[in-house]
Amino acid sequence: MVNMINANDPKLKSWVEVPNNSDFPIQNLPFGIFSTEKKNKRVGVAIGENIIDLASLKELGYLNELPFSAEDFNNSYLNAMMQHGKFAVRALRDQVSFLLDQKNDELQSNKNHYDLVLDNQSIANLHLPIEIGDYTDFYSSEQHAYNVGCMFRDPDNALLPNWKHIPVGYHGRSSSVIASGVPIHRPKGQQKPDDQPNPVFGPCKLLDFELEMGFFTFDGKPLGDSITTAEADDYIFGMCLFNDWSARDIQKWEYVPLGPFLAKNFASSMSPWIVTLDALQPYKIPGPKQYPDVLPYLEYKGDKHYDIDLEVAIKIPNGEEKIVSKSNFKNMYWNMNQQLAHHTINGCDIRCGDLLASGTISGDQKEAYGSMLEISWKGTQPITMPDGSTRKFINDGDTVIMRGTAQNKDIKIGFGEVSTLVLPAK
Ligand code: CA
Repeated sequence: MVNMINANDPKLKSWVEVPNNSDFPIQNLPFGIFSTEKKNKRVGVAIGENIIDLASLKELGYLNELPFSAEDFNNSYLNAMMQHGKFAVRALRDQVSFLLDQKNDELQSNKNHYDLVLDNQSIANLHLPIEIGDYTDFYSSEQHAYNVGCMFRDPDNALLPNWKHIPVGYHGRSSSVIASGVPIHRPKGQQKPDDQPNPVFGPCKLLDFELEMGFFTFDGKPLGDSITTAEADDYIFGMCLFNDWSARDIQKWEYVPLGPFLAKNFASSMSPWIVTLDALQPYKIPGPKQYPDVLPYLEYKGDKHYDIDLEVAIKIPNGEEKIVSKSNFKNMYWNMNQQLAHHTINGCDIRCGDLLASGTISGDQKEAYGSMLEISWKGTQPITMPDGSTRKFINDGDTVIMRGTAQNKDIKIGFGEVSTLVLPAK
């Protein structure tokens, strides 16, 4: 399959300058929605420090062999483009790669045209790229589930009996999924202090990030049908970094018996560039051995986990940054194919633009834990920041930044970042 995707060829080089450490070499070509002073919102593809404007590229006739209309690119969201499905989007990425290849003169030699289609990222605004339909959040990292089980139950029975049989998940809220750069206000809500008989109301005191990755779907099958683990790749468009904000004190009081509600639905932040599942094919690796054996509908063949380095930094109000976690997407017990197969096994349908998130991704070392709840172990082990202040959770004025890169011996591709400033409660 890897060989069929021309745009993944590690030998390709672009005539558009790409700095050595860039997240966006020609082998990546992630999709997003951007605008500039002169251009309204439209579909773009990142290359080095630039964006190639697909609306203008279409207008100039460079995408004529493909099934896309002008409105598919002259659009505030990627959904219309995604509606064409996996193989059309793959052909589109291949065509963009072909036009950016240094061996191809077509666009490279036409300065009038490339001035029209290339915009520097420094003058562009990046927006929420997808009109998100439904949002589902899983709980698929074993170390994270174990850590939370240890803290709130007991280390000998940290994982609940269903955990190794079911990719546990719940339906989240899509209206409050926001793009990187959009600040959030500290949420307010009910909390029940252990030493008080009644709940109190006020700003959350234990605001936390969750280091996650999300994936977006193409249109699925009709209601009543299921997507198998073998078919799942064809229904996944691409991935982003995802910070699933959590109010731990609100969560603790509200989550029994139906699970998280207001503790989770006030905001989730995503990175603006969607790295296609196609671009991630060279970074596939085997997953952990799953024992006990999973039920047949969750079995899968081949490598379906991905080696993607992840990090979380907290930038304090004076501008200094501290990296508080270094994890990896390979720390998933359940892979995306299993999540999608499980989600649809009862006949639940998925639609173009649905978001499925991984759940907090924690590795087995303390340095790889994916939330402050785990890093500070419920607030019992504060961490020290560059200015000498300490953190158990996130303070007002802090900016939480997540980054991700996939690297093999040939090429590094990246996700850019998701960065969110926390403002005081309204
Ligand atoms: Ca979550």
